[in-house]
Amino acid sequence: SERIGFAGAEALQLPGWRHVYSGKVRDLYEPADAAPGESDTLLVVASDRISAYDVVLEPPIPDKGAVLTQLSLWWFEQLAGTVENHVVSTDVPEQVAGRAMVVKRLDMFPVECIARGYLTGSGLAEYRESGTVTGLPLPEGLVDGSKLESAIFTPSAKAEVGEHDENITFAQMTERVGAEAAAALRDLTLDVYTRAEQIAREAGIILADTKVEFGTDPVSGAIVLGDEVLTPDSSRFWDAEDYEPGRPQASFDKQFVRDWLTSAESGWDKSSGEQPPALPEDVVAKTRARYVEAYERLTGRRFDA
Ligand code: ATP
Ligand code: MG
Repeated sequence: SERIGFAGAEALQLPGWRHVYSGKVRDLYEPADAAPGESDTLLVVASDRISAYDVVLEPPIPDKGAVLTQLSLWWFEQLAGTVENHVVSTDVPEQVAGRAMVVKRLDMFPVECIARGYLTGSGLAEYRESGTVTGLPLPEGLVDGSKLESAIFTPSAKAEVGEHDENITFAQMTERVGAEAAAALRDLTLDVYTRAEQIAREAGIILADTKVEFGTDPVSGAIVLGDEVLTPDSSRFWDAEDYEPGRPQASFDKQFVRDWLTSAESGWDKSSGEQPPALPEDVVAKTRARYVEAYERLTGRRFDA
């Protein structure tokens, strides 16, 4: 099948479904019997692809797609009282069982909705420059990993394929989606963060920040939570036991991958624009173990591949 979007790999052919798009991580399909672009549902397949610094790496991480899908499904259930979500069913073709879901097709808002309860990453970088995060002023003296007095909403603009997402102010978000939607998305995002942070804390995990995406139900007009939620790809999870502000925290995501990529051993120059070298076996294995551990600790369930 042809490549549409960012696809690093050829999308699978699935009976009854037509491939329509591939992001860095997920492949989207629509029912083969629907007119293109007109279906009510989509099939979202999470691949084992891993991206870092906005490049898709080789090789894939075994079981990553299944972990992301199972964790998202678990979170959608936990958040059922907080926000409507796009899940329709998990009745999917056998080839992608466990790592795919049928979802309601939404008109996605062109923004990534980020909530931060702790200061790090691009938020910390802006804070060091200007004392703000997406224009929101923060108190002086904060360091890498500082807990914020209350969680903040820091949107970013969804970039075109191949471009980097960019933090924007709430005013810029309002220009993109309108004042009413912007306020609703902010409130929902903070509700999701607050609920999830509480659940994660009970599992000994700090939810430092998370990114969610919403869309509009084309029939009811309701704002619905889409995409994946609260996975190591979209969130920073820290071990509460090791937490110590003032230094970078080890996170349950691509830490091993990022550390290796930026090490002398990989020999890769992030600014070169070149494809990074293949990940060594032990980095792949450790990364897989870390994704599985995040799933198991959060859900209290065993991951069964
Ligand atoms: P990009 O789309 O820029 O490549 P990405 O690499 O993050 O971003 P993926 O996350 O791999 O892309 O692909 C998932 C895509 O599906 C995203 O573009 C997301 O906005 C979109 N999406 C998620 N849920 C829905 C839904 N219910 N209806 C329509 N689109 C959705
Ligand atoms: Mg995405």
